[in-house]
Amino acid sequence: MLSTMQDEPLSLATLLRYGTTFHSTAEVVTWTGAGSRTINFGELGSQSARLANALRRLGVGESDRVGTFMWNNAEHMTAYGAVPAMGAVLHTLNIRLFPAQLVFVANHAEDKVVIVDGTLVPLFAKYLPELTTVRHVLVANGDPASLEAPAGVEVHSYEEVLAAESDEYDWPVIDERAAAAMCYTSGTTGDPKGVAYSHRSMWLHSMQVCTTNGMNLSGADRTLAIVPMFHAMSWGLPHAALMVGASLVMPDRFLQPEPIAQILAAEKPTFAAAVPTIWQGLLHHLDEHPQDISHLREVVVGGSAAPPSLMHAFEERYGVKVLHAWGMTETSPLGSVARPPAGLESEQAWAYRYTQGRFPASVQARIVDEVEGVQPNDGEAVGEVEVRGPWITASYYSPDGAQIDPSKFDDGWLRTGDVGKITPDGYLTLVDRSKDIIKSGGEWISSVDLENAVMSHKGVAEAAVIGVPDDKWDERPLVVAVIEEGSVTPEQLREFLDEKVAHWQLPERWAIVSEVPKTSVGKFDKKRIRELYGNGELDIVTFD
Ligand code: AMP
Repeated sequence: MLSTMQDEPLSLATLLRYGTTFHSTAEVVTWTGAGSRTINFGELGSQSARLANALRRLGVGESDRVGTFMWNNAEHMTAYGAVPAMGAVLHTLNIRLFPAQLVFVANHAEDKVVIVDGTLVPLFAKYLPELTTVRHVLVANGDPASLEAPAGVEVHSYEEVLAAESDEYDWPVIDERAAAAMCYTSGTTGDPKGVAYSHRSMWLHSMQVCTTNGMNLSGADRTLAIVPMFHAMSWGLPHAALMVGASLVMPDRFLQPEPIAQILAAEKPTFAAAVPTIWQGLLHHLDEHPQDISHLREVVVGGSAAPPSLMHAFEERYGVKVLHAWGMTETSPLGSVARPPAGLESEQAWAYRYTQGRFPASVQARIVDEVEGVQPNDGEAVGEVEVRGPWITASYYSPDGAQIDPSKFDDGWLRTGDVGKITPDGYLTLVDRSKDIIKSGGEWISSVDLENAVMSHKGVAEAAVIGVPDDKWDERPLVVAVIEEGSVTPEQLREFLDEKVAHWQLPERWAIVSEVPKTSVGKFDKKRIRELYGNGELDIVTFD
């Protein structure tokens, strides 16, 4: 028997219309370095209509890709609103990709128009001559004359083009399964791979972001979206904000600890999201320049494991709750969120909060052992984490239908490449990325556990651990750490670690550096660290 329910498509056009009318007073605040500029959601609706009209006039039709090469700001949010709602596909280009990768993804996605921030024009100018499908570039917050157009490409002023258009647009009815937006994985090995989110997946994911078990976003929130809009759709915050009328605070290009602290002081957000390295940097800044940040009801940390020491520092020193979450570009990205079960005492609750989190109803997960197959969720069996659900990708985008990396999928499940275990009550604990686990004398050492242990020392600002070849044990850990000047020596750190990890796991090799290399989305770049090690570019202290 079929239901009697209406078959209304879950469309981002409906979401945009809803958010910009019923929540028209919510705000998009963009930091300018010395203050902020603000539009409300009503104005966001008008601007989105103008942008959609302009894009249509430039020839953008259904399913055409519109790239963005932008910081988190009101203009980027306008593209988030307009492009999917008009039936085109928003492709958020990662401004920090290696040049060859950036060119690859824009050509692979066949971006027809790109919207570029004025401050990023010098960088974009290097790529534009190689972008074979781009016909129009809109320069926002900058001078279009500063960008030389190759033959066949027209460069426009975003503001002038929008000013000439009507602030009304007849948003179409869109098939909920159609692509709304695209992100490419940051691709540490091989070419980046494209994930195309649907209207339906983004709608459902937005609802999950807003649930109390998710990020609990509501109309009472001012959300500081530090996670870039090109990193897994800023973890779904922009569309979730439209769904509940949460205001957005956008840092634009001001991502260092000091300006983030200024934004916190001036805009008093209630919620914020970023990778651990950002929080680690902010923590050290705040410890030297204390300020009240108790207006933050919660901050979400994901993208890499949140060190427990970081979570405790924010809660105990600043009264701010750190919420640990796990996800991937391929999972939209929200996979699991570490809210403890009700009624637990502090220590038990913390044990749950350290995990990568509990899966929601829409994300099924299992542990698979390479040899023995699917394992029980008993909190002990360790293997690769596989997931499936309505906002998990089923394949990678391929312009010609040829399958890209089918080995990443297993009978309808996405293979995450993460190794971990799941408890009977659905909490995920990651041991490591499969390629980062250190295989020492037939035993495994989790690089993440060692990193967390090293970073729990107050004198350590950052620490990454990689496995390096060892004659006797095959592989041993190498710690690459940034320490506060004069605070601690590698020898003292080893003694400190001896109380925290099994003796046989104690790293013999240590490199003290001024900065741990980071990826384009701010995670520790272990590939680069391996290169530095391989080239003999690290100054290593060795213990017997
Ligand atoms: P990306 O697609 O760039 O967001 O990277 C996704 C990968 O980041 C995952 O497969 C994990 O390896 C890692 N990751 C994301 N969240 C966490 C977390 N909370 N703890 C540990 N690793 C994480």
